Amino acid sequence: MYFFKTNKLSKTFFLIKEERINMDLVPFDKRNGKIWLDGRMINWSDAKIHILSHGLHYASCVFEGERVYDGEIFKLREHTDRLFYSAETLGFKIPFSKDEIDKACKETISIQKVKNGYMRPVAWRGSEMMAISAQQTKIHVAVAAWEWGTYFASDIKSKGIKLDISKWRRPHPSMAPCKTKAAGLYMICTLSKHEAESKGFHDSLMLDHAGNVAEATGANIFFVKGKELHTPTPDSFLDGITRRTIIDIAKRKNLNISERTIKVEELKNFEGCFLTGTAAEVTPVSQINNYQFKVTDLIKDLSIAYQNLVKKQKAA
Ligand code: PMP
Repeated sequence: MYFFKTNKLSKTFFLIKEERINMDLVPFDKRNGKIWLDGRMINWSDAKIHILSHGLHYASCVFEGERVYDGEIFKLREHTDRLFYSAETLGFKIPFSKDEIDKACKETISIQKVKNGYMRPVAWRGSEMMAISAQQTKIHVAVAAWEWGTYFASDIKSKGIKLDISKWRRPHPSMAPCKTKAAGLYMICTLSKHEAESKGFHDSLMLDHAGNVAEATGANIFFVKGKELHTPTPDSFLDGITRRTIIDIAKRKNLNISERTIKVEELKNFEGCFLTGTAAEVTPVSQINNYQFKVTDLIKDLSIAYQNLVKKQKAA
């Protein structure tokens, strides 16, 4: 059997033999193992939804992204809390308790034998109704997990990634449930990321509705000036679990943290910049459009401290 590998830069396609390819290239619907769906562990290949699902047509869907380190899910309950918060905000009730979802996550990594990987709980509205109103739809929940490495290739990650500035802005809190991980919010993230990639950048900085710095497409952003950290106030975007973890680490290191409105014109004043996120972990940024940044010792130090924390969670 053959799979397609896409070379994003040259936009060419070529075929490679299945047995020689990296797992990252195997389409997600063609993998093996088990997925937890609506309370049962089922075969990976059977984890399907009907084409007429409300979640697919209207983005009535919420999800989480969690990381597994040495066989333990980092901050599992915080992610489960956020999944429930996202679902409640979209007006649907997950038909399981938080304990049951935590148990499903643990069972999934155990059955999949995931040691260092990623976990994706997702909840969505089913097929009972097919117009805007979805009051009678059944809420489905699934949990999948797989072995996974870094979000950005590790050589790129250590040198610092390059960000474009997106033309798409994060919506005002009155325009979308901006504190949730609701699938619909990711439409502008994918648009931004694709545009950035087509211009040769790795990701995109998104501004908020007022044109101030907000976050990247799937991660929060910090800036470094001497021993100070500056980060936008999360008033119109996700206050990430990694963001809060880094703020805790920085406080323990007696660093000054300034959470405030950050204007694009201020970018020239910062020496360093990095992203934080479950997938991105601590990722240095070397460039945002024409603004250049260094991978400072402070960023390296925070990145090591974060890795030590996530890997020592059993002992903590
Ligand atoms: N912002 C967005 C849009 C994200 O998708 C994520 C990843 N969940 C983050 C920020 C970072 O959040 P966390 O640290 O909780 O993963």
